[in-house]
Amino acid sequence: MDFGPDDVQEAVQATARAFARERLAPTARERDRSGAFPAEEIREMGKLGLLAVNVAPELGGSGAGAVAYALAMMEIAAADCSVAVSAGVSNMVAEVIAAYGTEEQRLRCCPRLASGEWLAGAFGLSEPQAGSDPAAMRTRAELCGDRWVLNGEKQWITSGDVAGVIVVWARTDPGASGKGISAFLVEQGTPGLAAGRHEAKMGQKASSTVPLVLEDCAVPASALLGRRGDGLKIALAALDGGRVGIASQAVGVMAAALEASVRYGRDRKAFGKAIVEHQAIAFMLADMKTELEAARWLALRAAQRKERGLPFSREAAMAKLFASEAAQRTTYKALQIHGGYGYTEEFPVERYVRDARVQTIYEGTSEIQRLVIARDLLRTA
Ligand SMILES: Cc1cc2nc3c(=O)[nH]c(=O)nc-3n(C[C@H](O)[C@H](O)[C@H](O)COP(=O)(O)OP(=O)(O)OC[C@H]3O[C@@H](n4cnc5c(N)ncnc54)[C@H](O)[C@@H]3O)c2cc1C
Repeated sequence: MDFGPDDVQEAVQATARAFARERLAPTARERDRSGAFPAEEIREMGKLGLLAVNVAPELGGSGAGAVAYALAMMEIAAADCSVAVSAGVSNMVAEVIAAYGTEEQRLRCCPRLASGEWLAGAFGLSEPQAGSDPAAMRTRAELCGDRWVLNGEKQWITSGDVAGVIVVWARTDPGASGKGISAFLVEQGTPGLAAGRHEAKMGQKASSTVPLVLEDCAVPASALLGRRGDGLKIALAALDGGRVGIASQAVGVMAAALEASVRYGRDRKAFGKAIVEHQAIAFMLADMKTELEAARWLALRAAQRKERGLPFSREAAMAKLFASEAAQRTTYKALQIHGGYGYTEEFPVERYVRDARVQTIYEGTSEIQRLVIARDLLRTA
């Protein structure tokens, strides 16, 4: 198995790496402190083709594929996970509209998302009482003449207040459980759509996470994304791709944590020698490197299957599960290697720990990934 990269993937990776190192890394700590949404950085990413990497060029995307997208995410997350998650959700939304949208929806939304004219796309699935179990959602949409009228609440919506378009899932046939859910494109500024206060999060502070309220929010009949009743299917398919993105983010933060640890460990002396010469520290670095490579391969394998049109749901779940859990262990070790300094803002590792923490939670918790993997395994074994 060969993950390349081919020329196109290498070019996307190089672009993302240069941008991440020169533009994002020097200011990541400042954004972490201020919590300011990285609007300027996102616009620049639009110009560099990093907001719709796996969307066709005729829709404004880069058309570089899922592997290139994973490689780009790894680079961006190594510098700043807040920017990575904001851009990651935009990429996911552009992809889902390209895949399920009408010609009119695609041509309206994808180029705006790809260019950064719309600062973000948002994915409005979770609700206060329905996260792991989206079929329990309560938001409903009723067809009134030629308009859908949406009522309900969404929770934890990344970029929900800055996104040009939000994919909102709502119940269209109350009796029909999961099959009664449909997806809608709701543009920012639609009367009846309101964002609440930013969540005060532990990490990824410069990403925006808000609740949304939909109160008699009317959208045209043409705002339905895909077929009525197909909403859950669309969400789950989008999440498969999203999980490759989260796995890649986890790989990025692990790489950054390892790089920082090697650098610090070579400089720091204890008992008359560099701490990397103490076997306990060297073994930690060895474990970090091994898990990093395993996570990278799982993420790229899932991305490659997606790119080849092969089923990749299980592979995406395995990549997300392993990479996000490994990111906890790796960032924790990085902090330990930095000793007391690791516990301060003087070094970036405390931010890596905080930023990595949510990766086992969003886009499906580790427990949900295990359910996906086990179900697929038992179905096919
Ligand atoms: C920073 C951040 C950004 C987010 N961005 C978005 C976004 O853009 N769009 C969006 O729609 N959502 C978003 N989310 C929501 C996220 O996807 C959910 O938080 C996640 O799916 C878990 O749902 P929950 O928080 O309701 O936890 P719950 O579903 O209440 O789960 C609580 C605990 O129970 C466990 N659990 C639940 N069911 C089972 C089961 N069957 N078996 C075993 N264990 C189980 C879970 O694993 C977890 O440990 C975001 C969340 C955060 C924190």
